[in-house]
Amino acid sequence: VLAPGATIGILGGGQLGRMLSLAAARLGFDCHIYTPEENSPAARVSARQTVAAYDDEAALKRFAQQVDVVTFEFENVPAAALRALTGSGKPVFPQAASLAVAQDRVDEKEFFARLAIPTAPFAPVNSRAELDAALDKFGAPAILKTRRLGYDGKGQARIMAREDAPAALKAIGAHPAILEGFAKFDTEISIVAARSRTGEFAAYQAVENRHEDGILRTTTAPASVAMGIAVQAQKYTQAIMEALSHVGVLTVEFFVMPDGKLWANEFAPRVHNSGHWTEDGAMTSQFEQHIRAVAGWPLGSTAIVSKVEMTNLIGADADRWQSYAADPEMRVHLYGKGDARPGRKMGHVNRLFPRK
Ligand code: AMP
Repeated sequence: VLAPGATIGILGGGQLGRMLSLAAARLGFDCHIYTPEENSPAARVSARQTVAAYDDEAALKRFAQQVDVVTFEFENVPAAALRALTGSGKPVFPQAASLAVAQDRVDEKEFFARLAIPTAPFAPVNSRAELDAALDKFGAPAILKTRRLGYDGKGQARIMAREDAPAALKAIGAHPAILEGFAKFDTEISIVAARSRTGEFAAYQAVENRHEDGILRTTTAPASVAMGIAVQAQKYTQAIMEALSHVGVLTVEFFVMPDGKLWANEFAPRVHNSGHWTEDGAMTSQFEQHIRAVAGWPLGSTAIVSKVEMTNLIGADADRWQSYAADPEMRVHLYGKGDARPGRKMGHVNRLFPRK
């Protein structure tokens, strides 16, 4: 168990690392951020930083020597970096298995299947012939995705009709891919949950997510789905975390189908954008919960204290910070990113609906 004063090492310097670091500070920990990026959102609020590439083994070793536990905010950390850190003797949570499965969309879907968790029909695609065969099997519409390194709708192409196949292959480039049948879902929900070093499990209530252009736009907590659906989603999430012996926060995204069945879309072995509502709407934020789990602390309460609508501030949205700040029902969170490129997540606002 880590006592206050210990140092938590975080791989990745983005907004998730920033919010983890702020939560850790509140519990009396220091954070040391490891990122290839100068002046990162996370490092600017942290005690220490290392700016180095993820494959710089000497820098990784030095980093491990300076921290008491290693975690990550970014799931595309190369497996070799995690192996090097694990070999350093310092605890690494979550362990490499969670990361490895989540990094490959085919492995991830096969993992869901082994746990009897339904998904959209899928097939690995490495060539035009395999794409045609998959389209023969489950038809259009479908989505072609790269197996690795996709996020926020990047590395994805929709196939509305068979004629779109060559353009879709071209759009995602020459990468190993997966074809997924299109899920005609009613809504999208996610479960953010945590598992401690002693195997204690705690899930937040299911939340409803709305995407625009492949990027999360809003999360509503709690989701307005039937209780049975929300409970089933939590059960699937627990099964995933037990199978991985996961320690820390993990998030699973589901499609709610018209027949009330859940199809798992993907999981992230980390805190997640659809959990940002917990900063203002739950007893314990997802960030504090993750820090508690990796530090060997008991998990905090996941009870909801206010209904919340979280909206991401994407690109120029953040320019309206003054009007958000003037709204008494909103909590404003900005990530300290200088350059508001289109599609870039600059911050979020949580609109609270406290019980009167
Ligand atoms: P992903 O990167 O896999 O989370 O995809 C981003 C978003 O694209 C999802 O949250 C859905 O809104 C949509 N999407 C992804 N896969 C599918 C699918 N098989 N069927 C329908 N919509 C999908």
